[in-house]
Amino acid sequence: MAEETMPSPLRQKPVYRFAPSPNGLLHLGHALSAFLNHDMARDNGGRFLLRIEDIDQTRCTPELERAIYDDLGWLGLDWEKPARRQSEHFEEYRVALDRLIEAGLAYPAFLSRGETKAIVRTFEAEGGLWPRDPDGAPLYPAIDRERPRVERDALLVSGRPHAWRLDMEKAIHAIGSPLFWQESGDGETGQIEALPALWGDVVLSRSDAPSSYHLSVVVDDALQGITHVVRGMDLYHATAIHRLLQHLLDLPQPAYHHHRLILGADGRKLSKSEGSTGLSALRSEGAAPSDIRRLVGLL
Ligand code: GLU
Repeated sequence: MAEETMPSPLRQKPVYRFAPSPNGLLHLGHALSAFLNHDMARDNGGRFLLRIEDIDQTRCTPELERAIYDDLGWLGLDWEKPARRQSEHFEEYRVALDRLIEAGLAYPAFLSRGETKAIVRTFEAEGGLWPRDPDGAPLYPAIDRERPRVERDALLVSGRPHAWRLDMEKAIHAIGSPLFWQESGDGETGQIEALPALWGDVVLSRSDAPSSYHLSVVVDDALQGITHVVRGMDLYHATAIHRLLQHLLDLPQPAYHHHRLILGADGRKLSKSEGSTGLSALRSEGAAPSDIRRLVGLL
């Protein structure tokens, strides 16, 4: 039966979420995301949730989290309280990580950022072209994936700090058939083929953070019953990783809507340090919420 014709008790209420990280002040790009999620929830009889993505405890602060609540409240957006805070759910991400480790799809990665950079630099200085992910970051070297088991175990026992990374090739092999996602955003729409291989062995947890963005986002979207993920185009390609993890962890797949980005005067994506487009700066200059809607092209 088509979704539109289902009797209402059987129809799942759509669930949307806005998921900012409190590692900087919200800017116009966040406002567009928050407005779209809020408005779509309202127009489709759905729920609007807020998730605070604060797994990176070195960069996220309580002040910035408070600023998120203030800014969203000022914009007139009403989310279900309380917001889910990722820092309160590390155990749930751990369970998901353990499952991937037990399935033999994750391996401990011992290289520091500096060591990884040095390997890439040396390779490129010799004229090689190191493969990069869709965001332009070098793929993680194969060295830890290919490490003999005894050596890997000895390093683990010695307490050497490590991340956990997904063995991308094995994970794709375990699934065996192509993956797709349903897209309705501002770029290509319809069934989009997910190409997770482009990202190499993505990080699942770090030595200083018990979960990565990719792992926690899929776990949370499932636990919160998110049916529609509405977020910026900068996360379009990362959706391939999310679809892969959802499949590996038997999690439901939401529909996706990646919206246009708000660009700065220099034509680049806004950054959190960009004061002039910060919502609190605009507010203190006398802007009203309707001005913000206009600035992001919604009025
Ligand atoms: N926390 C991410 C950010 O602030 C958004 C994650 C998502 O919407 O999936 O960019």
